Amino acid sequence: MRLAFGVDIGGTNTRLALVDESGNILELKSFRTDPESHEAVLERLAREILELKGSVCGSIVGVGVGCAGVIRFESGTLLFSPNLPGWKNVAISERLRDLVGFCVFVDNDANMFTLAEAKLGAGRGKKHIIGLTLGTGVGGGIFVDGKLIRGSWGGGAELGHIIIDPEGPGCNCGARGCIEAYVGAYAIERRARELFLSNARAVPKNLTPEYIGKLANEADRVACEIIASTAYYLAIGVASIINIFNPEMVVIGGGISNLGPLLFDPLRRLALKKALPHLAESVTIEKSVLGPTAGVLGAAFTCFAS
Ligand SMILES: [Zn+2]
Repeated sequence: MRLAFGVDIGGTNTRLALVDESGNILELKSFRTDPESHEAVLERLAREILELKGSVCGSIVGVGVGCAGVIRFESGTLLFSPNLPGWKNVAISERLRDLVGFCVFVDNDANMFTLAEAKLGAGRGKKHIIGLTLGTGVGGGIFVDGKLIRGSWGGGAELGHIIIDPEGPGCNCGARGCIEAYVGAYAIERRARELFLSNARAVPKNLTPEYIGKLANEADRVACEIIASTAYYLAIGVASIINIFNPEMVVIGGGISNLGPLLFDPLRRLALKKALPHLAESVTIEKSVLGPTAGVLGAAFTCFAS
């Protein structure tokens, strides 16, 4: 049985899993990430990998590492990550390979998510899938003909930065009116604050998407309006994505996807109405089924696919 290590480096925690080719997680570990310095994190990761390696039978094909940010895929270099301000131009692949002796592949976390959902999750068995991760930022993954499409050096598939209104609100990337500037967690909170104030309501302290979802489930009018506008803007982006890629499925994960039918019902209705009719007929819009383990699974499957 072939095995691979899958690593998901988040802004708060780093997860490490040992995964077999059927997608079973044999071991799962987690430790704190230092967002300011990579060396201690990579050394800890190497120690954990070497320790696990000693206890398994089966051939280990490599280590896949996912993290948010801009990555040169071939060299496995993280150029920039919004979650890891101290990690700039880090040659993760080279450093980790020196420490553990395996091939190391490094890719964007949204690509890892999309690959995992395509191989093991909502899109299992399908060959044309678009993945979107809705968190603080909005990530994208393009899986076409059974393979991820990353662009010329790996920086592509930034679907969250499709501009849907050049006069729109500011995005974390510096542009205006990106999908992320409407449906990233920070953008939803910004819009929510404005809506509460314009409705002469006190702004709740804990204005997270989860809390807004809770209010909406209690039929709070402002909360319902916030989610309706989130679905509306997301649908504009998803309709364009459907028209460009003609996917079989758009799979959506990340914290905001936990709004469930509150988000997905209007999203499906609006996106499929806005997309070209023939393309809309042949696509479904689904919620991620793998949840938080998608990152490590996709990272491990990057090794099996390479
Ligand atoms: Zn942007």
